[in-house]
Parts: sequence; structure tokens; C-alpha cells
Amino acid sequence: MCGIVGYIGNKQATEVLMNGLSKLEYRGYDSAGVAIINDEELNIRKYKGRLSVLSDNLSQNKIVGNIGIGHTRWATHGAPSDVNSHPHTNCQNDIAVIHNGIVENYMKIKKWLDEVSDVKYKSETDTEVIAHLIDYFYDGDLVEAVYKAVDKMEGAYAIGVVSKREPDKIIAVRKDSPLIVGIGESENFLASDIPALLKYTRDVYLIENDEFVILTKDNIKIYNEFKQEVNRDIFKVTWNEESAEKEGYEHFMIKEIYEQPKGTRETLDRRLDDDGDIYLDGIKLTKEDLDGINKVYIVACGTAYHAGLVGRTIIEKYAKVAVEVDIASEFRYRNPIIDDKTLFIAVSQSGETLDTLAALREAKKHGARVLSLVNVVGSSVARESDDVFYTWAGPEIAVASTKAFTTQLMAFNMIALHIGLTKGTLTKEEYKNLIEKLKELPDKIKQILDQYEDIQEIADSQFNNEKVFFMGRGVDVNIAKEGSLKLKEISYINSFAIAAGELKHGTIALIEEGTFVVALATQDRLYEKMLSNIKEVKARGANVLALAKENNREISKIADKVIYIPETLDELTPILSVVPLQLLSYYIAVARGCDVDKPRNLAKSVTVE
Ligand code: GLU
Repeated sequence: MCGIVGYIGNKQATEVLMNGLSKLEYRGYDSAGVAIINDEELNIRKYKGRLSVLSDNLSQNKIVGNIGIGHTRWATHGAPSDVNSHPHTNCQNDIAVIHNGIVENYMKIKKWLDEVSDVKYKSETDTEVIAHLIDYFYDGDLVEAVYKAVDKMEGAYAIGVVSKREPDKIIAVRKDSPLIVGIGESENFLASDIPALLKYTRDVYLIENDEFVILTKDNIKIYNEFKQEVNRDIFKVTWNEESAEKEGYEHFMIKEIYEQPKGTRETLDRRLDDDGDIYLDGIKLTKEDLDGINKVYIVACGTAYHAGLVGRTIIEKYAKVAVEVDIASEFRYRNPIIDDKTLFIAVSQSGETLDTLAALREAKKHGARVLSLVNVVGSSVARESDDVFYTWAGPEIAVASTKAFTTQLMAFNMIALHIGLTKGTLTKEEYKNLIEKLKELPDKIKQILDQYEDIQEIADSQFNNEKVFFMGRGVDVNIAKEGSLKLKEISYINSFAIAAGELKHGTIALIEEGTFVVALATQDRLYEKMLSNIKEVKARGANVLALAKENNREISKIADKVIYIPETLDELTPILSVVPLQLLSYYIAVARGCDVDKPRNLAKSVTVE
């Protein structure tokens, strides 16, 4: 998910690789490493931590060589550590592999390799099996060995391979993880992203899925999965470095909003086994454990707290157990009733949120079983939990969380279904049907993203409006809260969110001509009630943007504007209805000229109380 680079030519590889890796730093990473070949040997250096740890080492103890590969890792399998860093090698240390992505069937491959060979593993990663597979299949032809290895692999990968056995080439393969090749004179380059190459070339080949690339100093050959050579047009890069990092998007936030179909799909697909059932590798809760649990606490801060509120609805519905949701900074100080029958669920994108960590420790002290939902492998929250669900949104750079939120919602659905089936509160048939519904969500998110122009238009008409509030009923209230938080965070508009039933108990006093009300009416059960609430605010002069399901069209007669979300079950709408609200905040903030990716006074990871 992070960065790979490769170089073959006349320059010192160290210099080119380190420059390239530094340009990929923005993607987020936890460790870095290089493999460089010269006449004598294949040299590997790899360390946990910032790139400077690696570059300090390389400047004290230089590696000479003109061919090499480099990697920044965003751990998915095995905590960040020197050993788990890439490149990974075979047992003789003469084949080195870097990899972005996940080898989904690495456990099966390990089992198979154990049967047919005598492999000793050094790391806990999924990646290491690739080096051993290539070694196993090597029969005098490295390209052939890589073909055979890749044939055994399932999942997403961009890989780079070098070997002392054939020190004149770099081999790379792409499936679902980004990969490009840079074209030079008597030198060629490999990278996961354009910024890594801009210092050296603006001529690139964009590699497609299932393609293989063989780079030598003077040649680049691209093959498809059937080993047929492919002719690719040269792509001339005209972007500057900054926009290249954002892949052409103006901000990381909008890039990350657009990554949600992929993030939610990966979070789900990678945990479906051969029978299409949910397989949660990091969760060891047995039926006995689950039967013994009589209460669930979900504890988090900010956006993750809103994910927890949605999580409550889903867990209570599918798993039939009482759930309380709390803000971490409150939970710590309110003497909650916890014992060994409590399941404590901590939610944190970074896994370093101090209040959440402190709440988790408090819960553990009283005997709770701790399950965490985090996006960063090996983070403190993950390490201190009994069970972990990694959301696999990929690194989130923008301070305002978007893709972490929707993947957290996907995670809650999967956990709730898993608990429901294990405990028997869901039949197998219900469970299977619900998984089918979850599978549809990523494409439905995409359909909403396609309506961005309508949302932009609304933002352009309302960006100066300082009187904004959000309302909804049922699970929509939680998304109203998230929509309002997003708007506050990045556009500094003092908005708030209420349960629409509370209107008459106070808030309606605030409504006047031109107040901008965002009304979520996506719950079939509560739709009529929301129509009444919208009428109430309309009668007092509000300008209403409503969100409704596609089939509920009569709302357009009452609201000023309606954004429709695709049909799905009521409890699954949050993953969809939050998307237009993210876009709305984004476009409002842009129109107000705010620093969208780094809003004032906010930090990405809140590691203080
Ligand atoms: N799954 C691999 C690992 O955990 C690669 C992660 C990455 O894309 O950086 O090492």
C-alpha cells in the first residue's frame, strides 16, 4: 500500500532509490529498506522507522552498485520491525523482493512450501513467501520463476524482484496495486507513483493489471499474463511534484473520498473465504466467549466515535447484545460497569489516540475482553488488544477522516455478522444475504461520487451560510453528527446535529429565513416522520438539502434539493449517506479558501489527552 522504487543504470542506485522513496513519504509508512546488487553481492538494509534511519545507515556504510530496489512499508501482516521490513529474501539471500499490497493466500502458500521444500521463514509477513516461491520455481530463468510464483498468488500486489543469479535486470509485476516504469537513457526506473521519478524523467509507462515488466539498463519490456509482449504508449507527465503526489486531485481529502469504493471493497473481500463466508483472522473470540458476553462497550473519539454509534445499531440488530457507545475521554472518568462479561471495542484510525488507549487499559484492568478496529498495523491500540480488525483503508493523510470511517463501518458490519452467525442470532441464510448486500456497497458509493457536480453546486450556493444544522432519525442521526463534524473541521462553520424528533424541544427556535438544514431521510421506517420535520423547518424559512433513498422521490416536492442514495437496507445506509456529506464539506471548505488537508488547530493523530 505504500511505496516501491527500482533503478537500473549507471548512477549509484542508493542515491536514486533514496530520492525516490523520499518522494513517496507522503503516502505514510512505518519502515523502509533497499536491496542493491553489485559484482560481489546482494546487499540488503532495512529498518523500522523513518527514512532517515535508513539513510543515516547508508551514509555511514555505503553500498556501491547500479541496480537496486527500495521500499517503504505500511505493515499489514506482522508489526513494523527491522525483520518485517522489505526487501525480503529467499533462504540463500540471493533473491530480493519488495511488495505493496497483500498476498491473501500466503498461509496456504506457506503450507504448500512446507510440504515441498525446506523453507525457514525470517519474518511474519505475507510478502516473504514470494521470495521463497521464486526460489522454489527457479530453474535458470528468473522471469519464468516469477511468472510461476505469481500464478500461485492471490490478492493485490505490485512487486519488484532482483537477484544475484541474474544481476542485469529488475522484474516487476502488478495486480491491483499501482506501478509505473520511468524511461531514461541507458537507465530505467520503477516506482509505485510518479513523484518518485520526476527528478529523473517525465516519460513513463503506466503498467496495467496482471502485467509483467522486465527492466534492463537499455530496455523495457512489458508482457501480459499470457507472456505476450505488450506495446504501451509513453505517458508524458506534465504535473508538478505536488499534484503528482495527489494523483491529480487537488487535495488528499478528495483523493481519499474517492478511494472509498476501493477501501471498503478491500476491507470486505480480503476477509471472505473460499465459501464466501467472513473470516476474521485477527479475532479469536469463540462461540463460548461470545455466549459469555452480556454487554458491549464501543469507545472512541471524533469520527471513530460516530462509526461506533452506527456500530451499536448493527451489533444490536444482528448479534442481539446490548451495546453502549462512549467518548473515550468521558469513559475513562465515569466509573463504567465492566467485568469479564464485557466486550470492549476500541475504534481508532491511527491506533495511537491517547484517550482511546487509556480507556482500553481501564477496561482491561476490570477484566474486559478487548477488540480493536484500527487502520495502522502494530499501533499501540492494536498491540494492547486481545483481538484486532485492521480496516485496510490504506494510509489516510488528510486530517479530516473519510475513508477510515467508511472502512470502520464495513468492519462493524462484518464483526456483527460474524458474532450473529457464531451465536446463532442470525441464520446462515440471513448471514449470506447480508454479505451479498455488503458486497454491493462499494459500487453504490461510486454511484454517489458520480453525482459530485450536484453537490458542488449546492456547496457553491451555501458556502457563506454560517447557520447550518444537520438532522436525522434512527441511524441517520449518527451520520448527521459525522456530516456536521466534517463541516466544522474543515470549513470552520459552527454547525451542529440533532435527532429530528428533538426539533420541537429547542432547536426550532433557531430556524429563520435562509438557515441551511441538511436533513437525512434515508430510513424507510422513519421516512414519513422526516417529511414532517422537513416541513416544519421549511415553514420557518429554512433552505433544505435532503438525503433520501432513490425510490423515495416525493421528498423533492418539499425539500429545496435532494441527493439520492442507492437503495439498500436501512441499517447499511450510513456507509452511503456519509459520502455526499463528505463531499459537501469538502466543496464548502474549498469555496471558503480553507486549508482542507491541514485544518487549523487539528492534528491527524491525537496522542495527548
Ligand atoms: N503486506 C506486506 C507487509 O505487511 C506489504 C505491505 C505494504 O504494502 O507496504 O509487509
